[in-house]
Amino acid sequence: MKRIISAAAVLLSVILVFAGCSVNRGSGDFTTVENSETQEQTVTETTEKAKPKYTQEQLNKMVAFTFDDGPGTSTTNKILDMLEEYGFTATFFVIGRNIDDSTAASMRRAITLGCEIGNHTQNHNTGLNNLPIDRAKEEIEATSDAIEKATGIRPTLMRPPGGSFSNLKGKIDYAIIHWCVDTNDWRKKGSAGNYQAARNLADYIIDQVSGNPGAIVLMHDIYQFTAETVEIVIPELAEMGYRICSVSELAEAYGEKLEPGQVYFRINRTTTLEPGRYIVNTRESPLTLRAQPEPDAEVLLRLAKGTEITVEACEHGWAKTSYRGTTGWVNADYLTEAE
Ligand SMILES: [Zn+2]
Repeated sequence: MKRIISAAAVLLSVILVFAGCSVNRGSGDFTTVENSETQEQTVTETTEKAKPKYTQEQLNKMVAFTFDDGPGTSTTNKILDMLEEYGFTATFFVIGRNIDDSTAASMRRAITLGCEIGNHTQNHNTGLNNLPIDRAKEEIEATSDAIEKATGIRPTLMRPPGGSFSNLKGKIDYAIIHWCVDTNDWRKKGSAGNYQAARNLADYIIDQVSGNPGAIVLMHDIYQFTAETVEIVIPELAEMGYRICSVSELAEAYGEKLEPGQVYFRINRTTTLEPGRYIVNTRESPLTLRAQPEPDAEVLLRLAKGTEITVEACEHGWAKTSYRGTTGWVNADYLTEAE
């Protein structure tokens, strides 16, 4: 009986977690089970699998949206309107110097909707890597001061402008959030009002997040074009059963703690592979073989999609392999077992 009660509590918490989706027009995989027979079955499975908060199917359809370079006002609010309508969340990496009374209001609205605010430095200095670490920290802390003053919450995540993190890694008290899906929305900022351009970018995003669990998507909430793209892509991903969420929500879903000083390109860096033969299965670019199991380690080789390799070991999502006499590490997420 006790087990049934705790199992019911697990199910209830799952329902509560996804209660935000109730207005969602197409939350297929996130709706709760309907008939009691199925319900009982789900509860039993949930209990026996060490009480996961989310089913694997749900995890596979969670994706983090991140918006940089704000806070803005009208464009940020358009994006928040969409998130609110679907009960979704996102992470906004804001620039300290952009925070004023009107933009602070959109940050507070974001937090009210369950979104999170991250740090994108005070002046968007893309040369952060070339600054002495103390100067870089000043840029970061000034922004956190402004965010905390505006919202009452001090951020724990940061994104270096331009994504250059090598100087910050291991040296700052913030988890460093990179991305794995770059929408390059800023290149099309002049396409506001062009439906086909927004349609094309929405299709690109859907393609990139499909079959890409734990993905972190990069956009910018200061462009009208981005807001127009979001207005297309959010309803369609919802229809496909996706849940769009903040980076922290995604990490929590995976039970992954975002560690200060560590760099994250995606969540779900927990892929473990048994030693054996695997095929490189990247989406577009070749898979990089690196000297160390680190995202910024020296690149030794680039392995084309379809290359067959032997995995010798796997740690924290990095697979050790030798290819034509060169030994290094590749991202295990992009390997599929050879037939
Ligand atoms: Zn930026």
